[in-house]
Amino acid sequence: MHTPILSLRSLRRPWTAAGAVLAMALAFFVAVPANGSAMASGCQVTYTVNEWTGGYTAQVRITRTGPALSGWQLAWTYGGDQHVTSAWNATVTQTGHSVTAANAAWNGELAGGGTVDFGLQGTWQSADPAPADFTLNGVSCGGDGTSPPTTPPTTTPPTTTPPTTTPPTTTPPSAECGDAAVCEDFEDQTGPAPAGDWRFTAPDCQGTGAAAVDTEVAHSGTRSLRVDGHAGYCNHAFVAATADLSSVGPVLYVRMWVRHTTALPAAHVAFVSMPDSSQGGKALRIGGQNGALQWNRESDDATLPAQSPVGVGLSRSLPTGTWQCLRFSVDTSAPALDTWLDDELVPGLHADGVPTQDVDAQWLSRTTPPRPTALRLGWESYGTGDDTLWFDDVVVGSSPAGC
Ligand code: CA
Repeated sequence: MHTPILSLRSLRRPWTAAGAVLAMALAFFVAVPANGSAMASGCQVTYTVNEWTGGYTAQVRITRTGPALSGWQLAWTYGGDQHVTSAWNATVTQTGHSVTAANAAWNGELAGGGTVDFGLQGTWQSADPAPADFTLNGVSCGGDGTSPPTTPPTTTPPTTTPPTTTPPTTTPPSAECGDAAVCEDFEDQTGPAPAGDWRFTAPDCQGTGAAAVDTEVAHSGTRSLRVDGHAGYCNHAFVAATADLSSVGPVLYVRMWVRHTTALPAAHVAFVSMPDSSQGGKALRIGGQNGALQWNRESDDATLPAQSPVGVGLSRSLPTGTWQCLRFSVDTSAPALDTWLDDELVPGLHADGVPTQDVDAQWLSRTTPPRPTALRLGWESYGTGDDTLWFDDVVVGSSPAGC
């Protein structure tokens, strides 16, 4: 197992080229002995920072190298003036420089050799060095700043091998298909026209956009849903699941695999549309604008993130020509939602009710929680934007499905 103790690398981002923002990724690894030592602590923490002037996000991965835990708390001390403003997949509290992250309801079980991921966003003014003094349930993971580090910050590989041969678990963990309101691999579709649990729909008006069951491109098996989306307002082409999602929740989780042919355009497009009873049936939509993924609320045209360069930079482009795992959660009891692309939570597509500059100013203008009632997959453009895209292995339920 190759585990660098400390590595530093630059992340190239479109908005760094604009010179507006400095972005760096700091990957800080604290490796500790798995066994054979009285001080064996049973945890390894990877803290990966994406920072810009005045702000940062951090992805934190805990690898449990001791016995399984039922409920966990990770604590650390910030050496700079960082201040956590929001978090996902954990409840994070801060007192002065001391920070504690406690498990969320769905990720408290941490198996021996297992991993759990969470993330946070914060602000800083003068300095934001990565923390090194992690403790898990009160036991140091090593690298405590109050004593000599257990491993020197060199490129020398650690002398012990953490038991990390277990594949990382996804976050949130998988749900059983049987619990889901929609669990679709499209393998039982017999004709080219979507049938059974799916039906074609063009919510506003229909042009040359089309949708069909495809037997040549699939993520699983031999079938998927193909959409030929075209530019122009009247080319809406969607396939709707017949399942009523009105009672799915309180958090509605969606997992799908998508494959796009063309990069998301500068103009606004949507490829997931969910009628939302809290908007009188108008849609909660996922699509793109300025080349990056975004949420859009039809009733007031609010976007998440804000379409500023920094906001767009906090979202992600959607790779083309490969299957991508897209997951999102919509809280129907609070105005909160989260979005993951290939298991990475996208900071610009995260809303938790706490204002975040360049992300959610428009989004927070509406405080009524969304209530999606159905799922539509397809293509909707409002100007330019052609794309041929596929959907497969779609799960909608009250508990999360993994990738
Ligand atoms: Ca399939």
